[in-house]
Amino acid sequence: MSSIELASYAVVERNSRGRMVQEEAPNGRSEFQRDRDRIVHSTAFRRLEYKTQVFVNHEGDLFRTRLTHSIEVAQIGRSIARRLNLNEDLVEAIALAHDLGHTPYGHAGQDALNSCMQGYGGFEHNLQSLRVVDCLEERYAAFNGLNLTFETREGILKHCSLSKAAELGEVGARFLNKQRPSLEAQITNLADEIAYNNHDVDDGLRSGLITLEQLAEVRLFSSHLDKVKAMYPNLDGRRAIHETVRGMINTLVSDLIQQTEQNIQAASIYSIDDVRAAPALAAFSSEVLEQQRELKTFLHKHLYRHYRVMRMSAKAHRIIKELFMAFLSDNRLLPPQYQHQAETDQARAVADYVAGMTDRYAIKEYRRLFVVKEEQV
Ligand code: MG
Repeated sequence: MSSIELASYAVVERNSRGRMVQEEAPNGRSEFQRDRDRIVHSTAFRRLEYKTQVFVNHEGDLFRTRLTHSIEVAQIGRSIARRLNLNEDLVEAIALAHDLGHTPYGHAGQDALNSCMQGYGGFEHNLQSLRVVDCLEERYAAFNGLNLTFETREGILKHCSLSKAAELGEVGARFLNKQRPSLEAQITNLADEIAYNNHDVDDGLRSGLITLEQLAEVRLFSSHLDKVKAMYPNLDGRRAIHETVRGMINTLVSDLIQQTEQNIQAASIYSIDDVRAAPALAAFSSEVLEQQRELKTFLHKHLYRHYRVMRMSAKAHRIIKELFMAFLSDNRLLPPQYQHQAETDQARAVADYVAGMTDRYAIKEYRRLFVVKEEQV
């Protein structure tokens, strides 16, 4: 394929560590394209459409969901990969899979499930994404999971505690050896940040939870809004916001490409082994990093901790916790396919079931378990 044109430090099939279960080489597509295709066809991928990013799915049709977020991460990541002569297909695969392990209701759901799982090994969405592609998907005759390449799996596992890393074998080894993942993985991680910081501004404004006046204190936003206003003095409303967000994404992407190129040169990187041994190479410049931090702090303060978001989070916490406790206290309430797993590890089976739920499915299950209507008794 086109791997000859890629940088010497890019991931290519030739230097891939392969799949856990050996398979015949794919026909007419690369190994990483095959990974991407398997992810797109998975059940967990389709569920992303009905999982919260910041706003619960039923709050409005135009807000980002985990699915549209993942597609935006793939778009941003691929643009960066192409400019840096890295493996675009691998970046796309990692991006589309990176949030597969998210619970319903975003971080509120993950925090709730993690606190339920204390004493049973905890719950971490990042680790769960790997678990989905390694074990939970049931699509193939010869193996559980999707049997993805090592490189896609290492990209999905962004962070991990040392004790978990030790249990994970090869894919966890880099946390123990203090090594970095491929540049493709590093870039996808930063593309994720670029995507959510920018779309949360857009969704935040659309929801009315944050305002343009408040955002004036954020340099990254206000400098681009000023440029848009200078160029189009009569432009207002949504179009000015879109132009501003577009400018912000552009600045972040260009800066990331430039700084990463510089880092690669400065560290004399020639091979994938050099990439793994070097400190993190994909990075923003210090000036842009500072601006990005300012934006993050703003979003934390004004959007993620907005009282309306907090109310939703509190409700989500309660739903997840009560579902978990009900299933843990009586595994006969679980659907049959989870009862089998529950015989060996009940808490993990419950966590897998609850984590896989979409926002609305969790509400339905909650009603089915706890709401008694007169005519049903
Ligand atoms: Mg993400």
